[in-house]
Amino acid sequence: MELVFNTNKYLRKLASVWDLFGPPNSPARLLRAYDARFFGNPFYISAQIYDEMQKMAQSREGIRPLWFAFLDRNISTSKSDKRFTSLTKLVASLEIPMEDENGVLFRRFIKTFKGDFETYEKESAMLVGKIFGFTFPERLDVVLDLRGGVARSGSSLIADPPTIAMHLDKYERSCITLMLHELLHALVRKNKIIRSDKQTPRWLEDAVIEYFVPHAIIDEKLGFIDSFNIDEFEKEREFARPYAAEEFRRLLPHIKEYYKICGKKTIWRFLEEKGFDTFRTNSS
Ligand SMILES: [Zn+2]
Repeated sequence: MELVFNTNKYLRKLASVWDLFGPPNSPARLLRAYDARFFGNPFYISAQIYDEMQKMAQSREGIRPLWFAFLDRNISTSKSDKRFTSLTKLVASLEIPMEDENGVLFRRFIKTFKGDFETYEKESAMLVGKIFGFTFPERLDVVLDLRGGVARSGSSLIADPPTIAMHLDKYERSCITLMLHELLHALVRKNKIIRSDKQTPRWLEDAVIEYFVPHAIIDEKLGFIDSFNIDEFEKEREFARPYAAEEFRRLLPHIKEYYKICGKKTIWRFLEEKGFDTFRTNSS
């Protein structure tokens, strides 16, 4: 899998805003109940940017064209669009501390990341294949943001071609499994694994993936963590992601059982046999 890193400032700002306001328990969201101007210019502007992005996400063509426009892929289709030009102006006026996109920090990080990924690529591809029934795509686009002293996170921007964002503080091997986490979101959606209807819990996808990467079962198999304590993990995740707590709890006994036969069959087939009817295993 070829990793194509993009450190463009506009993209990083957009992905950061998306990431900041995205989670249902995000403090930024709660602050929206108050007058945004009082929290300073960056908050005021990023709230506006998020609203614009939300409007696009809910439009007929979705938010894909936006990411494409800023990713410099298929620029001609969208860069001239009025919505993008006004959004570009907003993004340009958003002043937040940012690492130089061509700086030594990024160059070093990307070199180390690529080197380590090469070392673990075969094994992680094997695990992703056996557990999820997916093969790695030929190429993965990664919007990479580095921000010191801030929690790390990621998001899946486009399912196909797979495009993700990672916001990282420093390099650790587990950055690789964070990347796998976001890639798995893209692959689950591309392969339409989880039935999408009103009854299907939205956070099931995230909870399933979380049990494997990052800092979880696959990390243990790759030797990134010494041992994986599933009960402690579940408690910590419930706390960090209260919106998905119910899914983590519902999955826990089944993941414990799957852990013992990990990779003998895909997790989708396993859960389907346990009575989860939200998965379509025909692609696994
Ligand atoms: Zn996730």
